[in-house]
Amino acid sequence: MNKPPLILTNILMFTITGLIALVAVPLEAFNNGFDWVEISACIFLIYFSGMSITAGYHRLWSHKAYEANGFVRGVLAVGGALALQNSILHWASDHRIHHKHVDQNGKDPYSAKNGFWFSHIGWMLREYQHHRYDDYENCRDLQKDKIVMWQHKHYLAIMLGVNFGIPILLGWLNGDVLGMVLLAGVFRLVFVHHSTFFINSLAHIWGKQPYTDKNTARDNGILAFFTFGEGYHNFHHIFEYDYRNGIKWYQFDPTKWLIRSLSTIGWTKNLRRCPEERIEKAKVAMQLQKVKEQVSSLPDAEEMLTKLQHEYDLLMHRMAEYYAAKKQLMDAKRQELKLGYDKLELAAKYKELKASLAEQKSNWTKAYQLELQFAR
Ligand SMILES: [Zn+2]
Ligand SMILES: [Zn+2]
Repeated sequence: MNKPPLILTNILMFTITGLIALVAVPLEAFNNGFDWVEISACIFLIYFSGMSITAGYHRLWSHKAYEANGFVRGVLAVGGALALQNSILHWASDHRIHHKHVDQNGKDPYSAKNGFWFSHIGWMLREYQHHRYDDYENCRDLQKDKIVMWQHKHYLAIMLGVNFGIPILLGWLNGDVLGMVLLAGVFRLVFVHHSTFFINSLAHIWGKQPYTDKNTARDNGILAFFTFGEGYHNFHHIFEYDYRNGIKWYQFDPTKWLIRSLSTIGWTKNLRRCPEERIEKAKVAMQLQKVKEQVSSLPDAEEMLTKLQHEYDLLMHRMAEYYAAKKQLMDAKRQELKLGYDKLELAAKYKELKASLAEQKSNWTKAYQLELQFAR
């Protein structure tokens, strides 16, 4: 079968930036070194552009896991252009197809079943998806977002503006344009590129599958560290509308922390979480399946499996009871809170009425005594 034509722009861009990051940056470090301003700017821009992809392109726009105000969306749209991964509309369209047809070669744009190279970067080097480059049917909702459409329309200008403008300006202010462009410009770009690409490649190859094995996605704490929390990809593929990828408090997910922090000042809202009960059930069902596979070859397999199934059924039963009770308790607490509030309101009203009654009583006494005086 003939392969689709190569995309020269992408090949050149990845090759040139990659070579600069691998050769020119270490040479510059060796010859002139980088100062703390350049290093800080690089780290800051890695987080800014990387998390514009994870918090913006991915969790906000592709999955609608939460809502954000215009200012946050604007900042994420500019940061996403800095990451040089195409427009929000295009990225989200690809990503929604990835979730819908995950692992199906020919449909999933970066199917992991096509191997590491293809899912990492190969899918962008040839015209595999040419037929749908102007078709954003699966992102009609995003086409109503003015910031998404503004970024899509002016993507090239914004992307070039920030990628050249920010490092050159910072370098000029710091007195060394070349050093800043190399580190905070090119090295930063290549680092964030591959950190995002690892989610499509490594996060579908390396790690555990605690929630589902219906697709290749894996949970991997090491990868989470380099991908702003997106390494918990097995959880993500089963509960994609959850604004978190690492659901435990100790799991490294700075994207989740950012979204939650912004919600405390009202800049983000309606953060979606999958009910704990469904997460727990998926995890236990997966454990049962794994142990069944292991036990099935043993001589007394049947007896063991019966016992296991019995324990599992009991666990499901207890879990349902527990979560029903938990919900009742939460409802009761909410009711109590409302009652408490009503009581407070009533008490305030009572106090107010008491005061106005006392006032009126004294007014009455005065009027009454005055009348009495006249009557005499
Ligand atoms: Zn994936
Ligand atoms: Zn996703």
